[in-house]
Amino acid sequence: MITPDKNNKDDINMSKKNDDNNSWFNNKDSKKKGGGPNLQEPLFNFNKGQFKFSFWFFAAAILIIFLLNTFLTSNSSQLVSFSTFKELIKNGTITEVQISNDYYLGLNSQSGIQLPGSSTSTYRTVPVNDPSFIPLLDKNNVKYSAASERASNIINMLLGWILPFVFIFFIWRFMFKKMGSSGTGIMSFGKNNAQIIAEGDTNTTFDDVAGADEAKDELIEVVDFLKTPKKYLDIGGKIPKGVLLVGSPGTGKTLLARAVAGSAGVPFFRLSGADFVEMFVGVGAARVRDLFKQAREKAPCIIFIDELDAIGKSRMGNAGGNDEREQTLNQLLVEMDGFSAKSGVILLGATNRPEVLDAALLRPGRFDRQVVVDKPDINGREAILKIHAAEVKMSKEVDLKEIAKSTPGFVGADLANIINESALLAVRAGRKKVIQEDLEEAIEKTMAGLQKKNRVINKKERKIVAYHETGHAITAALTEGSDPVQKITIIPRGIGALGYTLQTPTEDRFLMTERELIGKIDVLLGGRAAEEIIFKEISTGAANDITRATDIARSLITEYGMSEKFKNMVLTKRGASFLGQESGLSQREYAETTQQYIDEEVASIIQNRYEAVLKNLKANEDKLEAITQKLLEKETIASEEFSEMMKA
Ligand code: ADP
Ligand code: ZN
Ligand code: MG
Repeated sequence: MITPDKNNKDDINMSKKNDDNNSWFNNKDSKKKGGGPNLQEPLFNFNKGQFKFSFWFFAAAILIIFLLNTFLTSNSSQLVSFSTFKELIKNGTITEVQISNDYYLGLNSQSGIQLPGSSTSTYRTVPVNDPSFIPLLDKNNVKYSAASERASNIINMLLGWILPFVFIFFIWRFMFKKMGSSGTGIMSFGKNNAQIIAEGDTNTTFDDVAGADEAKDELIEVVDFLKTPKKYLDIGGKIPKGVLLVGSPGTGKTLLARAVAGSAGVPFFRLSGADFVEMFVGVGAARVRDLFKQAREKAPCIIFIDELDAIGKSRMGNAGGNDEREQTLNQLLVEMDGFSAKSGVILLGATNRPEVLDAALLRPGRFDRQVVVDKPDINGREAILKIHAAEVKMSKEVDLKEIAKSTPGFVGADLANIINESALLAVRAGRKKVIQEDLEEAIEKTMAGLQKKNRVINKKERKIVAYHETGHAITAALTEGSDPVQKITIIPRGIGALGYTLQTPTEDRFLMTERELIGKIDVLLGGRAAEEIIFKEISTGAANDITRATDIARSLITEYGMSEKFKNMVLTKRGASFLGQESGLSQREYAETTQQYIDEEVASIIQNRYEAVLKNLKANEDKLEAITQKLLEKETIASEEFSEMMKA
């Protein structure tokens, strides 16, 4: 196996899928097509017309209040300077004054509020702190009083009290809108927003999926069971309760589920794991309960939970962590146990990160079948390209095989993106059809992005990986008693492996001889040895190999008593352990000086074996070269072809 440098940020977990782009289970769509019922019926739906009405209502009300305010306060009173105001008092025009903090209002009590034929009956002025003002009023016999606040009082109250409430209401609503996904009303929590997709609602079929044959076959079987359960039950066959689709982002897991929905002919509930994780405690669990209740009523049916890791994360290692998620997960486990395989409810899950899932989810009776959706190999990529190319106008000269060849490590979503990008490029260049150059340019653009995200390895690295894996395989073939090579591949898989060589034992083994253990070390060292022969330098890719090789060498000496000096003596006691698989703590049972001996001995075993492996590989350099070239071309070599080439 070859592993990427640990320091490299692995992006697999980070790239959130662009699922939201495929609006396959969009409410509106299913309504338009007159499809299955929509489970989502919030009591209030603020997104409908009602709410728009009330928004305009508020806006108009506020406007009216403001107009009223200005109208009433400026009610035909004339604004005059303070000195003029005093003059008017002195000459008797003003006989009454109303005093408020903001203004003084002068009236003529004889003529009433409105003098006939005159637009001004009252005078307003902005007060100046003048201690002689009140004595002036007394002297002129002017009546004065505190201003009756009249209408403006009410307006002030309205603005002071109601406006903040209106404001708070808006903020509150806005927050709910952000929180609740896809326009769920405030009052609809607890209800789940799964949508039932009836047959024909999605017109995706298995023909739209390419390059994931294993997964496809598995799911076709599930669909077949739902269509004709009798066939399986009669013979006593058991269909899995839960099928978990596992694979890197963009490999087509959601697409496969969509194909199941399109061809199963039974109701299909689709939910994303994130939908369960809500802000309110208990809501997630309630959603799960509700979902299963509805599913049981509609059986036979399929429940699809996308992005299962959002709820199914392991409960270990987060003491006092997300209580809400834990409740949701527990409810899910309870519900899964609650229906029998015969009930006709099949649970489909998808995740990019099976390693974080809680072990309880993967136990028999739950997601008991795991289907790996691999990254496509060269033929798979060509098939995927063909599917997507059918949607755009392609020039006849376009060679999709060539494109497939130059896109190792790309997943279905990347390839769909390339086709789309090439169409855009063609349009930009004013062409009516996509030509090969457009596709090549699209690859370059996509590749740069993916390389930045560390999802695609470059040509040089790919070559290193190919020689490395071939090194393992050839060493295995040359080592007597070694397990036969079943598959060599340089298609990166999941997190951590850029390529691997698969060896499967021909029979169950419970013991191993010293020679076989040494053989294992040889095979592990074969990868790095090949790198050294070809490139004259070694890489970090063998980190995992040498860790394992070292472990075996150390076990030889400390556990299996296979060293010269301490023959048949155990130097380290471990809790029950077998073949280097550690369990429990190891216990040192030797002197300090022995430690040095062990280290030296381990070093010498590794050194000797490495030299032997180097020699063997050098003697077979022609095969190393030929097989690597084949591997670079085909990406995967199966056992027969490999043995064929070894014999040649
Ligand atoms: P995942 O759920 O595994 O992350 P998706 O199913 O969302 O990936 O894939 C995204 C898009 O990429 C799909 O809608 C489809 O257009 C394209 N795609 C991915 N895999 C395939 C495939 N095997 N065959 C055809 N198209 C694919
Ligand atoms: Zn390796
Ligand atoms: Mg998906």
